[in-house]
Amino acid sequence: MHVKISRVMETLQVINQMGETNHGIERLAYTLEEQQAKQYILKECKKLGMETSVDAAGNVIAKLPGTDPYLPAVAIGSHLDTVYSGGRYDGALGVVAGLEIVRTMVEEGIETAHSVELIAFACEESSRFNFATLGSKAMTGKVDQETLEELQDKDGISLRNAVVNQGLELDQFLSANRKNTPLKAFYELHIEQGLKLIDEKKSVGIVTGVAAPLRLAIEIEGRSSHSGTTGMTQRKDALLSASELSLAVEKAALLEEDFGTVATVGVLELAPGAMNVVPGYASLKVDIRSTNVESRNRVLNRIKERAELLEEKRGTTISMKVIQEDQPVIMDEKGRKSLAKTCEDVGVSYLFMASGAGHDAMNMATCWPSALIFVPSVDGLSHHPDEFTEEKDIETGLKVLEAEVLKQAVIVSKGEDQHASTGI
Ligand SMILES: [Zn+2]
Repeated sequence: MHVKISRVMETLQVINQMGETNHGIERLAYTLEEQQAKQYILKECKKLGMETSVDAAGNVIAKLPGTDPYLPAVAIGSHLDTVYSGGRYDGALGVVAGLEIVRTMVEEGIETAHSVELIAFACEESSRFNFATLGSKAMTGKVDQETLEELQDKDGISLRNAVVNQGLELDQFLSANRKNTPLKAFYELHIEQGLKLIDEKKSVGIVTGVAAPLRLAIEIEGRSSHSGTTGMTQRKDALLSASELSLAVEKAALLEEDFGTVATVGVLELAPGAMNVVPGYASLKVDIRSTNVESRNRVLNRIKERAELLEEKRGTTISMKVIQEDQPVIMDEKGRKSLAKTCEDVGVSYLFMASGAGHDAMNMATCWPSALIFVPSVDGLSHHPDEFTEEKDIETGLKVLEAEVLKQAVIVSKGEDQHASTGI
């Protein structure tokens, strides 16, 4: 079977005309632009004779029936929405890759025992509604009605109103849950959005797990005082405690480098915030991410220990609260091994790696054996108009995806062309 990379690039080009601006691609969730992209995919799938539908959350599902209707489908998918000023590959590439595999199957008359499904998830990015992977969460039963009712964008448009324009009803959203429908496997091809593959000179990343954040809110109470009259040894400076604690966060995570654990102080606020006042109050927000819960907890404990020492050293009071603690997702081990074998079979170099960012595949992985395949991102750049992946790298990733999908879907007929060329 031969996928056509030129057709993949042309199709990406067509999709990226939807939402193209002079500051990148803007195809935000549940907007006209995302809707147009979904309509385009639906149209192309219908042309291929696929059974198409849009579920209650706006996810596009298209099925190329297999020869045995009782077998569970093998699904391929990703998302079509982007962030503000987004790039051309994040999400769209995975959908187009799946489409290309089906196009080639139909073109070459390849039949599989299992059906092959293409899924274009709605609303993967949190940019519009501050809520990530909504489409795949709805599909896997990971969101409740109450949460949906609260979502609104920065212009105050509620999710309820936004989806009406897409012909959807918020009251029906949860019926997108298809947890009880078996799938043999789910595959997502995605750009890495980091530098590991390029640094390690590997073509494909096989994701072992998706890191999840533990988030901390830290408040530091010191004492505000006159910056001119308070001697250096008499101060209870909340900012200096916050600064030392921030460096401790970095150090704590560096000790866990082998586990790929990272920690970031992303928010620092001071009060009263005047040039002539020693800061009496500081608040920090810390994000610790890992695929390994123990490693993440070790970072947390080191931060706590450091905070205790700082209370004594600087006379400040430090309180700490865990405000979010998500569970990392470990990708199906059998699936990973099978992918690695496929890479070896087709002669493609690969790297087992964790994903620091969330993807639809992490929700799918909680219901069905799922795999996430990365292709290199030039400069590790993503969520940016200059996001770029080399055509040859897309072709390599697609080669692996295609081989794996066909292996799982089980070829029963290689089509007329194949027979002719092999003289059967
Ligand atoms: Zn994405």
